[in-house]
Amino acid sequence: MPAQSRSKNSLSYTLHKLLVGLLLRCPNCEKGAIFSGLFTMNETCSHCGVRFERQHGESVGGMYINLIAAELITAAGFLITQLLLNPPLYGQLAFWVIFNILFVVIFYRNSRAIWVAITYLTNGLQTDAEYAQKQQEK
Ligand SMILES: [Zn+2]
Repeated sequence: MPAQSRSKNSLSYTLHKLLVGLLLRCPNCEKGAIFSGLFTMNETCSHCGVRFERQHGESVGGMYINLIAAELITAAGFLITQLLLNPPLYGQLAFWVIFNILFVVIFYRNSRAIWVAITYLTNGLQTDAEYAQKQQEK
């Protein structure tokens, strides 16, 4: 259906799926939880059955998202604080180093879930049965 494929290519659809990932929900069904614990990612969605990570090492993309977000926020925060308040440099550095470490830990689940959403948007999220069928077709 052209209307459906057009909406799947829209920016609002992409942003919606990234937001679903940010909120730790399965981007395929938007119901299943991606994480079951603080740092424990479910292997598959409990609702629709898609496998969140097919191969080891896929989580590297999420770590890139995490580090890039941390560095951008830290750099912007440092510059804005310096311009507006001009605090002592050592206090400024200590604050942003601690912020950086805490942010990376707190944002860990969200960044990995955003990567799952990106995997979904690039058609990489499938159930094991769908994956097996595609392997047989090759
Ligand atoms: Zn799901």
